[in-house]
Amino acid sequence: MEPFRAEIPTQFNLPRRISRLGKIAYNLWWTWNPDAQRLFQRIDTTLWERCEHNPIRFLRQVGRTRLNELTHDRYFLDYYDRMIRSFDDYMQPASTWLTSNYLEYRNCPIAYFSTEFGLHETLPIYAGGLGVLSGDHIKGASDIGLPMVAVGFLYTQGYFSQKISEDGWQEARYHNLKFEDLPVLPLVEADGKPVTISVELPGREVHAKLWEVHVGRIPLYLLDTNVEGNSPADRELTSRLYISDLDLRISQEKILGVGGVRALRVLGYNPKVWHMNEGHSAFMALERARELVEAGHPFEEAAEKVRLSTVFTIHTPVPAGLDEFPLWLMDKYFANFWSQLGLSRDQFMDLARHAQPWGGETFSMPILALRMSEKRNGVSEVHGHVSRRMWNFLWPDLPEAKVPVTHITNGVHTGTWLARRLRHLFDHYLGSDWVELIDDPEVWERIEEIPDAQLWAVRQHLKRKLTAHMRERARDAWIVGSMHPVQVVAAGTLIDPYALTIGFARRFATYKRANLILRDVERLFKIINKPNMPVQIIFAGKAHPADEPGKLIIQDVYRAVKKAENGGRLVFLDDYDMNLARYLVQGVDVWLNTPRPPNEASGTSGQKAALNGVLNFSVLDGWWSEGFNGDNGWAIGEENAVYSDANQQDDADANSLYDILENEIVPLFYHERSADGLPGDWIGKIKESIKTLAPTFSMHRMVKEYTERLYFPREEAEPEVDPRD
Ligand SMILES: *Cc1c(COP(=O)(O)O)cnc(C)c1O
Repeated sequence: MEPFRAEIPTQFNLPRRISRLGKIAYNLWWTWNPDAQRLFQRIDTTLWERCEHNPIRFLRQVGRTRLNELTHDRYFLDYYDRMIRSFDDYMQPASTWLTSNYLEYRNCPIAYFSTEFGLHETLPIYAGGLGVLSGDHIKGASDIGLPMVAVGFLYTQGYFSQKISEDGWQEARYHNLKFEDLPVLPLVEADGKPVTISVELPGREVHAKLWEVHVGRIPLYLLDTNVEGNSPADRELTSRLYISDLDLRISQEKILGVGGVRALRVLGYNPKVWHMNEGHSAFMALERARELVEAGHPFEEAAEKVRLSTVFTIHTPVPAGLDEFPLWLMDKYFANFWSQLGLSRDQFMDLARHAQPWGGETFSMPILALRMSEKRNGVSEVHGHVSRRMWNFLWPDLPEAKVPVTHITNGVHTGTWLARRLRHLFDHYLGSDWVELIDDPEVWERIEEIPDAQLWAVRQHLKRKLTAHMRERARDAWIVGSMHPVQVVAAGTLIDPYALTIGFARRFATYKRANLILRDVERLFKIINKPNMPVQIIFAGKAHPADEPGKLIIQDVYRAVKKAENGGRLVFLDDYDMNLARYLVQGVDVWLNTPRPPNEASGTSGQKAALNGVLNFSVLDGWWSEGFNGDNGWAIGEENAVYSDANQQDDADANSLYDILENEIVPLFYHERSADGLPGDWIGKIKESIKTLAPTFSMHRMVKEYTERLYFPREEAEPEVDPRD
């Protein structure tokens, strides 16, 4: 994009023969190619660990002597050349799924807006599942060749890190990220000045500069208001995710929506499709309408043009995830905006007016998004139904089934979440081209050909790796003196790598019912403490810092974890992030999920687990009500059961959970050993689970579905969207 540059700094003092390591460090491609990670690790294993798998810090610190040595190491150079070749092939492919199927669209950018992107633990600009999905979405888009361009924020403090006090109370810690250690590149003009855009906030213009992240072939642009010329308060506007203060929240959303469009324009983009990932970015539609009005179109026509090129994905039915602003706040932030749209105040508010049960009215971001988009979707079949019911009032003339909100079920990015050893096993048994055919169920039939002993050996390795990691973390915290001895046990130091291990890790929002399994603690302790059949449960997750009930659930869980009677078999790991998520979804035996239906829009962590041969044990909600086939895991509770209250539902679900755990899961793991000493039936279930779930719940299936059904549907005429026409 002349005349702007985002150049890789020449900060690394690399020998010419291996100088392209610098380029790899600045493209997140390496994060989903474990053999590329090995490339760094092979240079200096200890330093690689000390730098927490951050190649930028690593390359800056590694000694020149060591690097020179490598330029004479034939094995290393072979490996290096192979990785560079595979990176170059990826970046300049002869063909992609897109060029084979939608050649005419190869230069039609799709703009993708999201408040959070979970790409890698070294770039902590995500809070949970929504962010990880956005990150996986653009990685998948890169893999299949979609011409996508993504927009988000570079939060100067990222999401908080979590410490648990001895009494189980979550403490949030914020620290400033060091941008020079992150794979983010400042966009500068030819004269070296930062590229900026500006957005009007009450009484002032706020400027934001732009950073670029290379996600394979996809550029991700991040806005950052920490710019000279902004007031000290404005410089902090983009310091944190999901601030509860409404003024800050609306400021952020105006900067993302309005500023994001302006950023793409400055960079010369004219996207054909605009995707709002959740309602937080819905002001984007207003800015695009404003451009068209400015170009001479009446508002109604402008709005229609915007609609025809806009896709909206809604991600939750839970009110805390749906932004609503009081009208007085809209007055404060948009009083100058409606006239630019050619609208009166009332007409403007009507775009997203939402009558509240308390009698007042709000401006609802999801309503704005639903009204300003033509293609709308929920993220699983169940969530599609829930969304049509929930938003039916916006289409009062239509029966629920006809409400124009479809669904595309979430998936996960296989390369990011699959353990390296399993990938090698799949390379061997699924055929060398399986990575190109991830969403083809036929390829996965070949899972049956993997010998039980080999699959089990990898599963055991992954569990040992998890337990070793937990011990190391606990030891580190113990050495620096930040832990009470009881907490060292609670952090998993007594865990047995050969015992049946259950994982529960995700955000601690109350509807996720993390403590459901503790509903009858006595019964649970009886089940997990049977001689020769121990069961271990590992919990992890953060609550939003303002979510007091969520923090109380953490405390409830932590208090149970600390009880001596459980013999160290219950564990809570603090500071859940993508790194810990990878260890857990790869390392445990069973993945537990107990949301209160129908609140889990999709859930994705169970899909990551399934891919790695971990069996799902979950309430039939979100993706699992599509994924469960009777044999590939276990279902808790009864689907569509009606309860008189939440208490009764919790009792029923908890009882179902205990019954299945005691009578099915534990015996299958410990008793049904084949002649060779392997749990043959368990391994059979693992194969059934991988084979039935991995293709369908992959990101490749998902991004292709978005492309075919929402981005570039064949049956529709091509919308005209150039605002300058
Ligand atoms: C996948 C993932 C999530 C989403 O988990 P759910 O169980 O789907 O809510 C949350 N946080 C992290 C770090 C993840 O990797």
